[in-house]
Amino acid sequence: MLKLNYVSSGYHQTCVIHDINLFFEQGTIYTIVGKNGCGKSTLLKACAGLLPLFTGKIVLEGQDMNQYSSIDRAKKLTYLSQFRTLPNITVARLLEHGRFPHLGHPGRLSLADRHCIDRIIDLMNLRDLCNKPLPALSGGECQRVFLAMKLVQDTPILLLDEPTTYMDIEYQLFFLDLLTKLKEEGRTIVLVLHDLSQALHYSDRIIVMDEGQVIQTGSPKEISENGILSAVFHVKIEDHNYPFHPDI
Ligand code: ADP
Repeated sequence: MLKLNYVSSGYHQTCVIHDINLFFEQGTIYTIVGKNGCGKSTLLKACAGLLPLFTGKIVLEGQDMNQYSSIDRAKKLTYLSQFRTLPNITVARLLEHGRFPHLGHPGRLSLADRHCIDRIIDLMNLRDLCNKPLPALSGGECQRVFLAMKLVQDTPILLLDEPTTYMDIEYQLFFLDLLTKLKEEGRTIVLVLHDLSQALHYSDRIIVMDEGQVIQTGSPKEISENGILSAVFHVKIEDHNYPFHPDI
């Protein structure tokens, strides 16, 4: 459970998101939507505990987020940024980093850690890429590898900023279906997605932002029917059913 109480946050002296009150329940997919620059990524970063709060507080499983050590927080939630630099290490090595919060005192991977990594390598179809250095990957492969690292971290809460960027439609749908399975296992998933159709199809709750504020939350049906998306994006929404489905 993650709760934001009157959270305002931003960068340096500039406040970007204002008075945000949100409650993220277990076993639910939330998607934050809104125009470019309205503060979606900033909200996600604040949820991850990566930005100073100007006002308010964030409560993670009953405890103030500020009271967590970074390792304890990394056992509870994982955050995928939209932008990243690529270290010159292999895919296999990057995936090992995902287990970092769970390692015991000698800091070595246990058999259980290795099994966890192996399972995700197969799940995300990364076996052939394991020995490749990250800079040698395509954009979509790289995205899959970073998502895999987040899955390896095995946290109850996943905060993912544009997780399907660069992916072929086949992998986009595979990954969004996988998120649905993870939520059914009880994980809390908070996404930023640009694709409104996917947001409406795969989410349980939509959070609509404008100018640094949450202006509405609701089910995909409520949000697609009440005119808020048309008002924010200046588009006509006729149906929230998604036209593509995995061919497997
Ligand atoms: P969105 O994700 O909705 O496109 P962002 O949260 O990325 O919007 O950005 C909201 C505002 O915060 C924008 O005006 C952007 O320029 C500003 N901003 C984003 N990141 C930074 C940063 N690292 N430093 C300063 N300002 C930033």
